Amino acid sequence: MIKVCKFGGTSMADGTNMRRVADIIRSDEERRYIVVSAPGKRYGGDIKVTDLLYETYRNIQKHGVTGEAFQKVANRFCGIVEELALPFDIKEVLKETEKELLRERSEAFAASRGEYLSARIMAALLNVPFIDARDVVKFNDAGQLNGELTFSLLKEALKGKRRAVVSGFYGSDPEGRVVTFSRGGSDISGAIVARAAGAGLYENWTDVSGFMACDPRIVPNPQQIHSMSYKELRELSYMGANVLHSESIFPVREADIPIRIKNTFRPEDAGTDILPTSKYKFSGRTVTGIAGKKNFTVIFIEKSLMNAAVGFAHKVLAVLMRHGISFEHMPSGIDTLSFVIDNEQLKNGVLDEVCDEIRTAVSPDNLRTYDDVALIAVVGHGMSRNVGTSARLFDAIARAGVNVRMIDQGSSELNIIVGVDNSDYERTLNAVYDEFFSEQA
Ligand code: ASP
Repeated sequence: MIKVCKFGGTSMADGTNMRRVADIIRSDEERRYIVVSAPGKRYGGDIKVTDLLYETYRNIQKHGVTGEAFQKVANRFCGIVEELALPFDIKEVLKETEKELLRERSEAFAASRGEYLSARIMAALLNVPFIDARDVVKFNDAGQLNGELTFSLLKEALKGKRRAVVSGFYGSDPEGRVVTFSRGGSDISGAIVARAAGAGLYENWTDVSGFMACDPRIVPNPQQIHSMSYKELRELSYMGANVLHSESIFPVREADIPIRIKNTFRPEDAGTDILPTSKYKFSGRTVTGIAGKKNFTVIFIEKSLMNAAVGFAHKVLAVLMRHGISFEHMPSGIDTLSFVIDNEQLKNGVLDEVCDEIRTAVSPDNLRTYDDVALIAVVGHGMSRNVGTSARLFDAIARAGVNVRMIDQGSSELNIIVGVDNSDYERTLNAVYDEFFSEQA
């Protein structure tokens, strides 16, 4: 079986960690294709190389020089190569990189150099070929991944190579200009390489031993999730469980490749397996995990006989579309329609404009907004199998004295989303966790 391994920023943070990574790779013949992030934080308060590179770009834009930020990047990489005692002329590569940064004047290009340099160093450490993602990961003009072209270019590049290191996070557009994924996007690169390589497993190595059933910063010592389905992952990671980029499943989904989250610093821990439907076995749990995010606004619209008014929702959606706003949820009743939208999109007077336009478009009987709403997603295939799950959920929330602002149940019965005041967020998470997990210990 071919395993593709992606190592995150903490795993690449310094020479010692990189050596650890190399040992993990060498300990298993099946670990063949490696995708790496840029060096991340070494300690609390440290700055990720990617952030320093964004700062470098801002320096170039403002002052025409790479400045102190790039000096810090250079120091990080020189330190790593020195620590590893590699015969790799990092000074020369950095000099060339600085020239390119000044020439290209592109934010994406600047951001991508962390992955480019760490992949080159990892390839030198393992003594295997380096594959530049710029040559093989292709985006279209709209900035979306061109999967077909990417998979065929990557397949060709990997052919005949026992092992290789591919840089994560970026690729290029049809003109060859560097394009990056969103932050944390090396997870997606790893999934793309896994798909192209026909891998039997995509190992995603990070600094935690997998997913917890709830955010450990809010619920003390939550249980570990040993396995979950792709769909559960998508729901949990989208709603804030940020172990893995929420878009990572798309490249592996069609090929049914399982993902395993592993901890570089505790490789003996089992981690979390994320399985395609065909391989997923029901765990017996009612709830697999709970995740959540703060800072949403609910726009609540009421109009008598809304159910009979053809095109009502369409007119409201047209207002959102005109403002380029995407919504998270759209719970509806016979005469009511609500939209849940993250606050970021409604800043600087946009919320008022949107409400005015909705009033003009559909003359509602009532239009109210609630801001400072937190969303909590309770996720699990088991919920649809067990009678009384929602009664237990809402009973637990009521016992905690929390007022529910909004409820939405995904049509797949995979999740129930509850909206509460931001100030009730922590209390609700703890109450829901205790209800579903204290008995499952
Ligand atoms: N280095 C990039 C970031 O910090 C991408 C990644 O690590 O996945 O977001």
